[in-house]
Amino acid sequence: MFNNLSDKLDKALHVLKGHGSITEVNVAETLKEVRRALLDADVNFKTAKEFTVRVKEKALGQDVLTTLQPGQLMVKLVKDELTELMGGDAEGINLSGNPSVILMSGLQGSGKTTFSGKLANYLKNKKTKKPLLVACDVYRPAAIDQLHVVGEQIGVEVFSDRGNNDPVAISQAGIAHAKANGYNVVIIDTAGRLAVDEAMMTEISNIHKAIQPQETLFVVDSMTGQDAVNTAKAFNDILNFDGVILTKLDGDTRGGAAISIKSVVNKPIKFIGTGEKMEAIDVFYPSRMADRILG
Ligand code: GDP
Repeated sequence: MFNNLSDKLDKALHVLKGHGSITEVNVAETLKEVRRALLDADVNFKTAKEFTVRVKEKALGQDVLTTLQPGQLMVKLVKDELTELMGGDAEGINLSGNPSVILMSGLQGSGKTTFSGKLANYLKNKKTKKPLLVACDVYRPAAIDQLHVVGEQIGVEVFSDRGNNDPVAISQAGIAHAKANGYNVVIIDTAGRLAVDEAMMTEISNIHKAIQPQETLFVVDSMTGQDAVNTAKAFNDILNFDGVILTKLDGDTRGGAAISIKSVVNKPIKFIGTGEKMEAIDVFYPSRMADRILG
């Protein structure tokens, strides 16, 4: 994960490690390399620029020029700033409703159905939660089948209505089914298109308005870099979602989406997907991710 970025940042900061004392020019050169590494990792231009400006201010404010180990201090400052950029403290999901309704949004192929299953499994293992999955993709019968397969795999019931082509009605019926049968979490998997289009946005917005979920999650493939950030913006404008799920972090991801998304849409990344299996789900901890990036 993020190997390229880690190597480049390490190289950029390593230059300072050998120095007992450094100059403002050394700091500026190092931060230029840091910025280049972030841009190469597909971090949004504005985010990368602001990042280095903030680190520079802190470095000069904290007397990095006279400290005994300037290299170490710079690594710490960069790590702290990365943590802040990715969201500061980890944020959980709101499960206060009875049932708590969680709406999944995102493009087709982003990993919504897989993540719906992972989240249901994760919550089911918490013992106090009894989740129900609801299949609301009325365009692709295969998507409904896929959710049933996932449900069977993890032992969670899937509510679907194949004859119905109204996703709002299906989601409402799913919630009613949950209430009648003692489910305390409802996870609604919706249809996604290959690109943001008006019809999809209207549909998800209608579902959102009708069911008023406790939690709306936006699922995005981290491998898509800046496209992930742009798609997040488009969905956030319509849904004002509560959190982001970054999938496929096990792939050859450059890191741009993970690093930029919070600062662009101002919503936390809540979970990450790290594989195709149902167990490949992790709570997103910005500080742990920053540790991983900086080694
Ligand atoms: P949806 O169209 O948004 O519902 O996406 P799917 O859940 O069908 O996922 C699309 C593809 O991505 C499937 O082949 C999944 O197995 C795969 N996938 C989903 N999440 C992950 C992940 O975290 N890591 C990897 N490697 N593959 C994933």
